[in-house]
This record gives sequence, structure tokens and C-alpha cells, in this order.
Amino acid sequence: MKKIITFLIKNKLFVAIVFLISISSWSTVALANANSIVVESDSVNVRVGPGLSYSNMGQVKKGDKLAILAEKNKWYQVRLSGDKIGWVASWLIDNTEVSSATNKVGIVKVPNTTVFQKNNSDSEVLGTIEQSQKVTVMYQEQDWSQILYKGTAAWVKSQFIQGTQETSGSSNTSNDDIKTVTVTQANTKLRIEPNDNGRAIKSVDVGKKFDYLSKSGNWYKVRDTDGSVGYIASWLVTISGSKSAVKSAATNISEATIVIDPGHGGTDVGAESSKKTYEKNFTLQYAKAIKADIEKTGARVVLTRSGDDTKSLGDRARLSSKIEADAYVSLHFDSSDQSNAGSGVTTYYYGKDKDGQLATDINNQLKNLAIDNRGTQQKDLYVLHYNSQPSVLIELGYINSSTDYKHINSDSYKAAVAKDVTNGLKEYFK
Ligand SMILES: [Zn+2]
Repeated sequence: MKKIITFLIKNKLFVAIVFLISISSWSTVALANANSIVVESDSVNVRVGPGLSYSNMGQVKKGDKLAILAEKNKWYQVRLSGDKIGWVASWLIDNTEVSSATNKVGIVKVPNTTVFQKNNSDSEVLGTIEQSQKVTVMYQEQDWSQILYKGTAAWVKSQFIQGTQETSGSSNTSNDDIKTVTVTQANTKLRIEPNDNGRAIKSVDVGKKFDYLSKSGNWYKVRDTDGSVGYIASWLVTISGSKSAVKSAATNISEATIVIDPGHGGTDVGAESSKKTYEKNFTLQYAKAIKADIEKTGARVVLTRSGDDTKSLGDRARLSSKIEADAYVSLHFDSSDQSNAGSGVTTYYYGKDKDGQLATDINNQLKNLAIDNRGTQQKDLYVLHYNSQPSVLIELGYINSSTDYKHINSDSYKAAVAKDVTNGLKEYFK
């Protein structure tokens, strides 16, 4: 009897061990299955290394299934057809909100730079980074920079990061074409260092011009006529002759950062329709529809306002340089002095070199809308003039024309506009 019990216990143990082994091999199989991904964006660049600074070796398309070999800094190493191996940005696959093509590489300037969870020194400390280490900078505010840290988004004080000009693969982002930097904000400081803590050498007014020398992160090194040299924040100025200075590094819409500007808002209602509805509400609805459509490509989209907020034209234009947008699209609806006197869609641009191509590419797509197309036109509009990035302003029909209004107020027209703007941007980044 005792012998039998011992046998049973031993046998149970044996069964248990067999069971455990089978569970662990089962889960290994499950993991192997989970280690592949399906591309959800229309097309995603494959790079030779885990970062936008590596050159592009090809593309994968929506629906492609890729085997993941490794993961590093939010990039997946994947196997492609023909047994080639490359890297794709995980956020373009997962379509999470950290997607940004304008990531830059920064160098940590001081030893043991603290990494915070939020842009606030009271937030949790995630660790430290050693001096001279390179970090991927995803976004910069005046005092804080958002970086990639151990696979997640984290924050460090901007003053501890030295910006470099290294962006994505393209190396011909020549700054030689830039001639003049013009100040667009009153009381702008020329500083001794490229950050807000740098001592101010002088304070200058709107319209003041400097010779451009070089770029350091989001700051420009400039020279005044009296020979003094200093740094000026790029979001407070505009550059002339900057044909390639703002040329997007993105070679695919999925890598781009795009600003959509819903015109008017808050106390500024814009034009009024005969139905007593306002331009500001339509621009916001259209901006949200366009944003949703563009985001399907994997691109990062930022709105200048997402609610009924009053925003200055300066703030709207500056957001574009602040986040180094690859394209900026401002949305409006026209109105004529008398109702039913005007009709049509118009795409405006300011600088031919800077904005012309973007205007052409978007307007070409807007040609099959229910409202007639009036083509592209050059016009000195504030949000375009004081915008350092490629920018256009679209008037999507006359709000005080009863025929245009019928379309403007319809979901089908809105959906068609969203699709056309997205397709225009896809074309532009090709
Ligand atoms: Zn307007």
C-alpha cells in the first residue's frame, strides 16, 4: 500500500512536470506567433538602422506581415522578402502618437543629465544620461525636450541638450541658400547661447534683419550689421531665400509632421452664412476630419486649436516652426460682400519656392470637388508670410453662397475634402 502511494505521488509529480514543460513550450509557440506585425499605414520606410538618421532601403505596404527579429529604441528589426533585414519605426506600425519624422539627434551636454517622466522637475526621475550621449529628440518646448529614453517618451531640460543638424537620411539640406533672418515678434532677444537661458546681447523689434550663419537645434546663429553674432529662436523669425532650409526630411507622408490650422475661433467667428452659422465652426469640423484621415497614414498631425479657442495669427504661424512641421495647412471659407456673389475653392501660397509645390499638389487633388476650383494663387497672408515651413491656406468655398453652402454643410463634401488634402500631402512627400 505504502509503495503504491509513493508511486502515485511520484507519478503525479511526473505528470505535473510534463504538464509544465508542455505549457512552457506552448507559450513559446504563441510568442513566436505574436512576434510578427502587420503594417497598418499605407506605406512605411524601412531603414538600415534603428532611427530616422539611417538611410532608407525600401518600403513596406499596408497589410504586409513582417517577422520581428529584435527591438531597439522603439524600432523593430524585421525580415523582408529576399531575406533582407531592416528596421521600421514601431510607432508607424502601431500608429501611436509619438510618430514624428522631424525627430532630431541631440547630444547631452552635461554629465548625469536627469531624465524625467514629465516636463516638470517634480515628476518621477526615470534615470540619468551621461555626457556626450546621443539622444533622439522628438519635440522641444522652450525649457524642456521630449526624448526617447529606454523605449519610452521622457523629458530632459532643453539647456542640457545640444541640438545637431542631423535629421533623417537626406544630407543635402543645404543651409547655404539662406540669406536673411527677419524677426516677427516684438522684443525678440539675440542671445549669447542657443537657449532661453543664454544672456541676451540685445533686444530687437519686428522687421529687424540678420545675416544667417548656421543652425543649432531650434535656434539660428545670426550676425547683425554691427558685426555682433548671437542666437535667435527659430520660431520668432522668418527666413528669406530659404528654399532648402525647411525642405522636409520626410520622404513619405508617414514620416511627416503636419499642422492643420482651423481658421478663426473663440471671439473671432469668421464669416457668417445666411443660416447664421459661422466659419470658425466649419473650419474646426473640417480640421478634425482631415486630421483623422491623415493620421491613417501614420503621420503626426497637430492642430493649432482643437476647441473653440481664440488664437492669434502669430501663435498659429509660430507653432509651425516650433515643431518644425513638414507642412502647414490653414483652413478657411470665403465670403463675398454680397451673398451669392462668389463661389469656388482657392489654394493660396506665399513663397513660390517654399510653398508653391505644396499648393500645387494639394490643389490638384481638390479639382474634383462639388464646388468649382479657382486654382492656386499667390497672396501675402500672415500665417503664410510669417511661417518658416511650407504652408498653404485653402478657402474651401463661399459660406455666403447658397449653392456652395449646401456642400460645405454636408458630410460628403467634408469627407471628400479630407481625402483630397491627404492625397495632396501624400503626393507632396513622394
Ligand atoms: Zn477665414
